[in-house]
Parts: sequence; structure tokens; C-alpha cells
Amino acid sequence: MVVELISVGTELLLGNIVNTNAAYLAEKCAGLGLSCYYQSVVGDNEERLSAAIRAAADRADIVILSGGLGPTEDDLTKETAAKVWERHLFLDLAVKMQIQGFFTKRGMNPTENNWKQSMVPEGAVVVNNPNGTAPGLIMEKDQKCMILLPGPPGELVPMFEESIVPYLKALQPGVIFSKTVKVCGIGESQAETMAKDLIGAQTNPTIATYAKTGEVHFRVTALADAKEEAKRMTKPVVEELKKRFGSHVYTSKEKVTLERAVVKLLQKEKLTVATAESCTGGMLAARLINVSGVSESLKVSYITYSDKAKRNILGVKKGTLEEFGAVSSEAAEEMAKGAAISANADVAVATTGIAGPKGGSGQKPVGLVYIACNVKGKIRVEKYQFSGSRMKVRENAVASALTLMRKCILEYRETAKDE
Ligand code: ATP
Ligand code: MG
Repeated sequence: MVVELISVGTELLLGNIVNTNAAYLAEKCAGLGLSCYYQSVVGDNEERLSAAIRAAADRADIVILSGGLGPTEDDLTKETAAKVWERHLFLDLAVKMQIQGFFTKRGMNPTENNWKQSMVPEGAVVVNNPNGTAPGLIMEKDQKCMILLPGPPGELVPMFEESIVPYLKALQPGVIFSKTVKVCGIGESQAETMAKDLIGAQTNPTIATYAKTGEVHFRVTALADAKEEAKRMTKPVVEELKKRFGSHVYTSKEKVTLERAVVKLLQKEKLTVATAESCTGGMLAARLINVSGVSESLKVSYITYSDKAKRNILGVKKGTLEEFGAVSSEAAEEMAKGAAISANADVAVATTGIAGPKGGSGQKPVGLVYIACNVKGKIRVEKYQFSGSRMKVRENAVASALTLMRKCILEYRETAKDE
């Protein structure tokens, strides 16, 4: 089935807000096995919105609109969609009571224009919005449907997950099952090259590649009559990807993030950890702290941005800083050494680099980062050259630090096994 997305809002056209709804919806729809060939953004203008809806409904089976369901004059998505499909609006008392309840619960009074939201196109299915006043709406006509969702992501996302996903699943002839193989420590183009023949050869299951910072995800999706059958179809493809990417695969579970995989590994090996961060300034610690239960493993994180802090807190030698500089393999190594001692931790990870945009030189360009990982005294230092903005360099450094941690702990586990 074909889906088309329309994002409504002049703010989007002006670039005042980023269209995260479209990215979210597109990814979700792909995961549900729907094909999306067009997306559009339209301002709060009835004429242009009507034209966009007509074109989309011509081309697609499902049209999903987001935004413009609010109480104000410029919110006209519902009115326009109803007009295009020639539906009258009528007062839905249940919706009106829900709106009243929403305000009462918050000790507030609705304003007159809030009642506009209790008008519903005839024949439409009203979708509950537990996080706001505008209900979602589903209209059906001649085997096609239009789904209207509120703009705020805090309302749209839960509504989509709770109510729209089951609706879309029921529309489809078969059952979709997908599994994601997540890879770290391999660049996007290399990963794609390694899986190119697989991606090209598959139609069911399909393989979609998503590049994330420092990671590549492969989503394998199969369509079949029953879930078990779809599951069975994805299996050989998932196995093949795992075989090709070997130890670079950190999970094939949807909910497991890279930091979670690393923390799990630390817990399994009963290792404690400390971070010593210069250019990442706490971002590595923040990623680790995303994982609930990390307090078992994470002892302390040092943000040692200045040379003085590197010397005083981590014991980096003055001579090392003078001879090689703070952004050097030698400094990174001493940081990881000192952090493990100071924190009395089994594992210590250190980052030092030039995040930019200023501060680069011919010998040490912007984006140069050294990361050291110390596992019980065995220290490995890696040199990286990232590109992009200051934020991008720092995010890449964090992802690489997690990847290096994982690699070093796996190595430690192997040697421990041999001994
Ligand atoms: P409201 O009742 O808040 O007016 P609405 O359904 O009318 O909701 P809009 O008025 O279009 O939605 O947008 C409200 C807010 O939702 C925007 O200011 C913006 O913060 C967010 N928003 C809207 N559309 C998008 C989008 N496509 N991506 C991300 N955020 C969005
Ligand atoms: Mg609005």
C-alpha cells in the first residue's frame, strides 16, 4: 500500500521548526511495510492545502496529515480535508466532554475557540488524544483513507503508536515483521558495500539501511500471511548480515542502543568504569547514564578540559603535555591510566580532541580526536579524524568511544577465557 505525508504549517515552510513529524512518520510507515513516494509541506492556506490533499489522495491509498488541528483561525486542516471529501462538520458531544475534562483536570477553563475542536467530519473515526485537546481523525472513502494528526510531536507520537499503528496494520493484507541488525565501528559506505548484493537481491524481505552517528542499522522487513511466517523469512537474511559483520554487530534487538550494549557487557564482566573527557565534555558519561542501572558500573566521570585539570585530576605529566600537546596519543593514554587509578575503576575511557571550529592547525586539524581505553591496565589508543560541526565531531567521538570500549572489553573477555 502507498502512503503519502502532508505536513501542514507556515512555520515549517519558513524553517522556524524542523519537520521531525515527517521523519518520524516516514520511518514508522516504512517499518509497517508501506511505500512512501511523496511528502509535502504546505502552509496554513486553504487553497494550497486543498490542492495538496487532492494530489496526495489521487496518488496514494493512505494520506497522513500532521498539524493544523488546533483551536485557532489559522488551523484549518480538518476543515479543508472535510471540504475536499465533501463531508459536513458536526458537533461531537463526546469530544466536547473530553475537551472539558482536559481543562478541568488542569484547573483551567476552555476558551470559546476550543470548541472548534469538537467539530468532527461526518463519518470520521475520532482518535483519542490523551496529551492534548485536538483529537486525531480518520476519514475513509473508496478504499482510501486520510489520517489527521495534531502537530505537536508530544501528541502525535503517542497517538500514532497507540491508535494509528494498529489501524494501519489492520488495513494491510498481510503481517509485517521486521528485525534490525545494528552495526558499529564500520562507516556507512563500507557497510553498504558489504551488504550491497543482499540489499539489491531482496524484495521480500526488504533491507533498508539507516546511517546513524557512528552506527549503521539494517532493517529487515518481511510481509507474509502470518507473523510466524514473516519471522521465518527474515531469519536467513538477519543471519547472513550477522555473519558478514561479525563482531561489529552489537545487537539485533530494536530497543538495545549502543550504550546499553556496552553497559550490559560491563555488567556481565563485572567491570567498573570511569570516563575522562576533554572534547566530549561529559557527553560520553551522559550516553552511559541513558541506561538505567548503570550506577552499578559507572564510578565517576571527570571532565578535564584544561591542561591543569588533566594534570591535577588525572596525573597527566607536564612533560607529556609540553612535548606532545593535550591532543595526542600520549596524553590520551595517560588520561586513561590516571582515571582508572583515581577512580579505582577496572575500565577507563579518555577522549581528547579538536572539536573546532577554531583551534586546528596543519599538523592537528579540526576533527582530530584521540580516544584511549584502559581495561585493567591494558591500554589501547585510537586516532580518529572526524569532519563536520563542533557538535558532529563531539557526537562522533562519543560513538567511537563506546565502540572502542566494546571492542576492548570483548578482547579482555577473550583473553580471560584463554587464561
Ligand atoms: P495546536 O493545538 O498546538 O495548535 P496543531 O495540531 O494545530 O496544534 P500546529 O499548530 O500545526 O499543530 O503546530 C503546533 C506546534 O507543533 C508547532 O508550533 C510545533 O512546535 C509543533 N509541530 C507542528 N508540526 C510539526 C512538525 N511537522 N514537526 C515537528 N513539530 C511540529
Ligand atoms: Mg495550531
